[in-house]
Amino acid sequence: MAVKRQLSMVLDLNKCIGCHTCSTACKLMWTNRNGREFMYWNNVETMPGKGYPRDYQNMGGGFDTDGALRLGRQPSQEDYGIPWEYNYEEALMTGTDPWLRPNVKPTWGANWDEDEGEGDYPNSYYFYLPRLCNHCSNPGCLAACTRNAIYKRQEDGIVLVDQERCRGYRYCVNACPYKKVYFNEQISKSEKCIFCYPRIEKGLPTACAQQCVGRIRWIGYLDDEAGPIHLLVNKYKVALPLHAEWGTQPNVFYVPPMSPPKYGPDGKALKESRIPLDYLESLFGKRVGEVLEMLGAERQAKAEGRDSELMDTLIGYKHAEMFKLS
Ligand code: SF4
Ligand code: SF4
Repeated sequence: MAVKRQLSMVLDLNKCIGCHTCSTACKLMWTNRNGREFMYWNNVETMPGKGYPRDYQNMGGGFDTDGALRLGRQPSQEDYGIPWEYNYEEALMTGTDPWLRPNVKPTWGANWDEDEGEGDYPNSYYFYLPRLCNHCSNPGCLAACTRNAIYKRQEDGIVLVDQERCRGYRYCVNACPYKKVYFNEQISKSEKCIFCYPRIEKGLPTACAQQCVGRIRWIGYLDDEAGPIHLLVNKYKVALPLHAEWGTQPNVFYVPPMSPPKYGPDGKALKESRIPLDYLESLFGKRVGEVLEMLGAERQAKAEGRDSELMDTLIGYKHAEMFKLS
């Protein structure tokens, strides 16, 4: 879907520390009202893991290779995790229960499998994957909406749900393979990440990027040849979309995580990556190996005191320079 300009975000997974400050910033700003308790317009997942909502990668949506829209399934409330209440009265007021505990035993929720990952010590591994709406160039949510309530802004490509037009049919939830549209049962409308457009219009970065402790997020326009987004996505091509095969053409890109080495039975490091390459390829596509090689070579150059425009950009010396919003 052609727009005049496309705003984009790049996230360097080598720098994410899984602190969830981004999710908290987003939640406090946009989804702390009733009906939105389970909504994480931005969330941070441990990978390998089930993600949020649970197993969203197997729920379908997006487009077939021939361009046909696929309507996947909607997550159940259990897939999101129902926020639980605690026995405050019994534990803190009447003293009838010595333990403060949830009223119902929880079985799933956001970050339920945090820091679990895969593999056995000393070869266990995981990394963090922050996720938000990709403000796709071919949005499944928009294609599925029978009310024309979802639109993509010409000036910056941000995808929004018109709350006046939305009737809560939820086809968008089915069609988004990233499950980044949420249905608010209290108002019977769909809601999603708005890329902090009121901030963007004032020249400010999104709350998640502004607050990011690890400085992993860059924001800018894809066509701005002087900006960091162009450098990472188009010039060095080290930033890759998540699940490009789903056909929605995401505008959020990831610098894939480099891996520590695997250790042999004698405790010595092998020349093998601990994070399996085929796993990373299943997320970020076949170019991931080539990107990791380039990152390794540039990191080595920087360590040896040689110039590296790529590493200087990825380090992000000055936070303000990571955002180019004009
Ligand atoms: Fe729509 Fe999902 Fe793409 Fe966001 S990630 S624009 S909700 S299809
Ligand atoms: Fe990762 Fe930044 Fe979010 Fe922390 S604030 S979890 S470093 S993306």
